[in-house]
Amino acid sequence: MEHSTFQRPEIDWLWVRKDTSHAWTRTTCSWDICASTKRSIKSSIIRVKFTQKSAKIVRAVATRVLVYGSILAVALWWMLWTPGDGSGVPMKPLGADELALSSELRGDVHTLAAEIGERNVSAGATRLDQAAEFIVRSMTAAGYEPQSQWYPVGGVKCRNVEVEIRGTSLAAEVVIVGAHYDTVPGSPGADDNASGVAVMLALARRFAGTQPGRTLRFVAFTNEEPPYFWTTEMGSLVYARKCREQGDRVNAMLSIESVGFYSSEPRSQRYPMGLGLLYPSKGDFVAFVGNLRSRWLVHRAIGVFRNTRTLPSIGAALPNSVPGAGWSDHWSFWQQGFASIEITDTAPYRNPYYHTSGDTAERVDYDRLAPFAGAMVQVVKALTADSQ
Ligand SMILES: [Zn+2]
Repeated sequence: MEHSTFQRPEIDWLWVRKDTSHAWTRTTCSWDICASTKRSIKSSIIRVKFTQKSAKIVRAVATRVLVYGSILAVALWWMLWTPGDGSGVPMKPLGADELALSSELRGDVHTLAAEIGERNVSAGATRLDQAAEFIVRSMTAAGYEPQSQWYPVGGVKCRNVEVEIRGTSLAAEVVIVGAHYDTVPGSPGADDNASGVAVMLALARRFAGTQPGRTLRFVAFTNEEPPYFWTTEMGSLVYARKCREQGDRVNAMLSIESVGFYSSEPRSQRYPMGLGLLYPSKGDFVAFVGNLRSRWLVHRAIGVFRNTRTLPSIGAALPNSVPGAGWSDHWSFWQQGFASIEITDTAPYRNPYYHTSGDTAERVDYDRLAPFAGAMVQVVKALTADSQ
């Protein structure tokens, strides 16, 4: 069988033109020259196409980086910018008022964390209720008539404790200062959260007999800690739901959560999700944390706090998805659509004794807790007085 073979022609032809102003002309040339010219034209077309395509990709990527980068930068600014100067002032010896406040705070933290100790339903409800009783007694001694909001948890009666000062000019609007008094099982809970309860009690004593514009409530919450955290048995959620049901206009809620642990050592502070790139590494500040809707409250509270020129402070309005942003009783008020913020030493991001038996009354820094509580008097005064 005969195979047909390709017979290479001697002569081939090309369409060429000298430049764009000239017409295309058909030119003949030898087959080899034509073939190599065609190859080089083809590869230069591919090169041009490839270069144009990569330039397009680079332009598209650069545009996206610029657009999304700008959106991210604006979003970060919106969430993290706060008014005023958060650097605080260098520590100085406490004045007479602060010394008295310091020993008052020390006494209350000692009662809750050292005398009563661990306070959790699952570890025996007796001590949890001893803490509630201590709060009732302290509030009564300050001139209030405390109310208990009882509800059952696994057959055990638990309670939030509240006192109220009716507002004068804006009575329908309510400002709540809250702190949880329970602990995780196995911890005396001095920083978390006897420190917050002590500050809440100190504030209640200082506001007793005053006439704030808005209605002011001090509330001690139960069952913030596991296994009740973020469940329907969490005391603050029970309370916030009741506020919603009875139509309370909660203007602002402050959760005083773990406020007694500080360190001047470098790298003593940690953060969630790379926020450490933007914030100090020294754990000597107080953090004001709200959700996006509570940004105004973060700004209002931190603005007044910074004017007191006491402890350093940072503030942010963060989505609940940021780990730590919703880790206290303010979260319960977010669930009901109220503006609420947490004021905290950041607990697990700073305190190595967080949720351990080492969270003792001796480890609370009363020299810082006292000026903090003093500054919070001004914050609460502003929130209950102003017309914002
Ligand atoms: Zn806590």
